[in-house]
Amino acid sequence: MSLDRSTIWPYDEHGEPREFYYQRYGHPAGAAAERALGRLDGGHALLFPSGAGATTALVLALLEPGATVALAEGAYYGTGRLFGRLRAWGLDFVEYDQTGPPPEGVQLVWTEAPSNPFLTVPDLDSAVAHPAPVVVDATAATPIHVRPLEQGADFVLHSATKFLAGHDDVLLGAVVCRREEDAARLHEFRTATGIVAAPDACWLLLRSLETLRLRVERQTASARELAGRLGEHPNVTVVRYPGFGGLLSFDVAGGEAARRVETATRVITNATSLGGVRSVMETRRRWEGDRVPEGLLRLSVGLEDVETLWSDLVTALQQV
Ligand code: PLP
Repeated sequence: MSLDRSTIWPYDEHGEPREFYYQRYGHPAGAAAERALGRLDGGHALLFPSGAGATTALVLALLEPGATVALAEGAYYGTGRLFGRLRAWGLDFVEYDQTGPPPEGVQLVWTEAPSNPFLTVPDLDSAVAHPAPVVVDATAATPIHVRPLEQGADFVLHSATKFLAGHDDVLLGAVVCRREEDAARLHEFRTATGIVAAPDACWLLLRSLETLRLRVERQTASARELAGRLGEHPNVTVVRYPGFGGLLSFDVAGGEAARRVETATRVITNATSLGGVRSVMETRRRWEGDRVPEGLLRLSVGLEDVETLWSDLVTALQQV
């Protein structure tokens, strides 16, 4: 589709709004990308300017002051940081081990499939048996590997910045709702608060979704191969890989060694983020502090030839 950047569209011949009339309420590129993502996840998708923006909108639209969120421990550190900020507005959160049942007495369950960077997989059966609504942040899995709405989850969250957009050139987030009435409520909240994704970003997402399956299948095949080989490498102490997706993490002995490894690769870029067509790797300690091991390296596998990636890793691991 061609990109329409209009912020206004004329009313019809009776002076009534058509489908699109003011960009904050909705726009053609956003609606088309939401339809495409909604089909992939089997629900009703809404786009936001970032994954963190989508998280903010979802919890504020869903919860009242006084509510508590049960957050998967070891989930994306930015989600915990954001929930910490929201304490000032009366929302609390507790962390729990997502491989088991969520604690009682919480108003929302927030899981991550798989968690970033620990790569744990949530026990979704236990989560959906809980009376509170369940969110699955499926950023690292994508709908190619998990479709949580089919397993009874209420909402899927994506940092679409990652695999969905997939080229490290778009910042975007999404919530996919199982129920239409939840989507309508969230849409109303999005319009009122103005946490709206711009047409250019939505258009780029639409382009990227056409290659999502190909990219993710290739990234998964390479990540699986590299995780297996890293597990046998003498300088690697731990490998975390759930068996699907393009994201993995591994440890080398000590923080200094990890810093040397991350700066020694030549094909794999030493940068943050994940899900792009080019491989990136970084130590996470600098961002997450002592909740991650000093020697932990997070690797997001791109589309490069797997043997090229392996020889880059082997060379870098000589620094340990
Ligand atoms: N969820 C996960 C699992 C993430 O990895 C990230 C970003 O790294 C986010 C949410 C936040 O997304 P964004 O950076 O698009 O705001």
